[in-house]
Amino acid sequence: MKYVIIGGVAGGATAAARMRRIDEKSEITLIEKRHHISYANCGLPYYLGNVIAERKELFVKTASEFQKRFNVKVMTETEALSIDAENKSIKIRTSKGDVKDMTYDKLLLSPGAKPVKPKLPGVGLSGIFTLRNVGDTDHIKAYINENIAKKKCPNKKAVIVGAGFIGLEMAENLMNQGLDVTIVEMAGQVMNPMDFCMASFIQSHLIEKGVHLKLNEQVQSFEPTLPDDCIPINIKLKSGNTIKTDMVILSIGVRPETSLTKNTDIKLGETGGIWVDQYLRTSVKDIFAVGDAVEFPHPITGRPWLNYLAGPANRQARIAATNMVRGCIDRYEGSICTAIAKVFDLTVAVSGLISKHLNQVDIKYMATHTVSSSNAGYYPGACQMIIKLTYSPDDGQLFGAQVIGKTGVDKRIDQFAMIIKRKGTVRDLMQIEQAYAPPFSSAKDPAAIAGYVATNAFTKEMPVLTWKKMFRQLHGLGAIKNLRILDVRTPEEYKENTIDGTENLPLEDLRDRLNELDPNQPTLVFCKVGLRGYLALNILRGNGFKEVYNLTGGITIYNSASKAWIDNKMHF
Ligand code: FAD
Repeated sequence: MKYVIIGGVAGGATAAARMRRIDEKSEITLIEKRHHISYANCGLPYYLGNVIAERKELFVKTASEFQKRFNVKVMTETEALSIDAENKSIKIRTSKGDVKDMTYDKLLLSPGAKPVKPKLPGVGLSGIFTLRNVGDTDHIKAYINENIAKKKCPNKKAVIVGAGFIGLEMAENLMNQGLDVTIVEMAGQVMNPMDFCMASFIQSHLIEKGVHLKLNEQVQSFEPTLPDDCIPINIKLKSGNTIKTDMVILSIGVRPETSLTKNTDIKLGETGGIWVDQYLRTSVKDIFAVGDAVEFPHPITGRPWLNYLAGPANRQARIAATNMVRGCIDRYEGSICTAIAKVFDLTVAVSGLISKHLNQVDIKYMATHTVSSSNAGYYPGACQMIIKLTYSPDDGQLFGAQVIGKTGVDKRIDQFAMIIKRKGTVRDLMQIEQAYAPPFSSAKDPAAIAGYVATNAFTKEMPVLTWKKMFRQLHGLGAIKNLRILDVRTPEEYKENTIDGTENLPLEDLRDRLNELDPNQPTLVFCKVGLRGYLALNILRGNGFKEVYNLTGGITIYNSASKAWIDNKMHF
């Protein structure tokens, strides 16, 4: 049997190694158009920021090491040009420039994704980069060393266009290099895979760290500045604003690399990725595909979905390799897009469907926020962890989770991901058994607390309003008539941070002052994070109040999100 694999990084190299592990005798050829195979894409921003000091650490295996260990013929700097599925052959251009045909019995495509590079005037200027591979990284590093680090004028500036995962990782790493960093983002928030309220915490942190944020701004063109200007690039924004910079990283997204499917019967799906079935077969016999290039139904919505993540690419590669060697026995289940990033001192993570996605696909949902301590409050190092869950109002099925904090975010998001993927409910979160000792968690883990709160909201034991609903109420756009809004924090807290349109009635006084309230008037209570609000709600409901809500996540979420909403001139 002759297996040919196109693409030699995450999906391709993983599949080649798996094929060899389960099939000692067959011929396996790995074709990679660039110089390196099997390297750590995900480490590239950290190499640029000198967190990974040695370039060689990026390479999991060199081509010759891979060839030796796995007895796989590795052809680097060799590009697959086209596929002739009828004759089971591909055309390749080798490193020497020869164009030849290569036959296969089974073919695996893992060509990845290509960065979106908008056709803006001046986009080809020196100093404007995308970051996808080792070559890009080398160019960026060389440019910083030669053009920025050595220059005499003290201003050293970088602009990152696009505030997604890689853009934010790059912001931190370029600042580590001593550059003054500005992020230009077309949307009204950073980190689009998260909801606005969660992103607002990341925004404040970026600003605190000295990053200049330009939200709701779009690049119109890049121009060279005058020769004697020490900063070489001028960016014109659609708003009329301009930014001068030494370099630009375009990080505005990627698209599946599907050029090899041209003139073949390999079907592309609705999203533009290569269509594959559950065995990761394409629509053409004996051709399989994996990784960033493929689309696959989302496990919750059932709709086609693209994932640009290393975990799914590696899992798919293992499954496809098994199926190519042993016949179709392993099924791919799809990915819910569980992702995590370090943004300076914060860890931000998301899994499943956030409010924004649920709205787009018209799925009804509820949302609750919790603000908990990463570990026992009395143990040093405890940090605030903010969690937002989205779930079904019908049966409590957990749709999505977003977590932001300084420590312990990674283990919580993985717990949520497990429940989301198994189509579990918010109640299931209360059944997870977390290992507990004060340095690691609390006896009530943040994931469990998120489950308790969501379950209370879902079962209507604690009706909730989100920050946005309260914001709308306070701006005369609310749906609840005659809503009275009570801040149940202490008078000191109220004085320090009063929200116009709310009244202070501290939790501790509430039972004694019930006569000041009307049990028939809809009432919203809030506190710092939601706990005292919940207690106040119980007192009111226990005393015959008919319509009481608690502000989910309390003033912590409200203040952060509403401030960002106003600062960024967002509209409903
Ligand atoms: P790739 O790993 O990109 O490999 C595709 C390879 O195919 C490329 O080397 C390409 O040169 C080659 N190729 C394409 N066409 C041809 C052709 N015609 N002939 C020969 N070779 C061809 N994911 C995470 O989950 N977490 C992270 O923290 C993370 N960080 C990232 C940071 C950066 C800077 C980047 C760029 C990506 C990051 N990712 C991260 C995404 C992750 O790297 C990808 O999801 C994963 O590598 C996809 O695997 P793949 O095999 O589909 O594509």
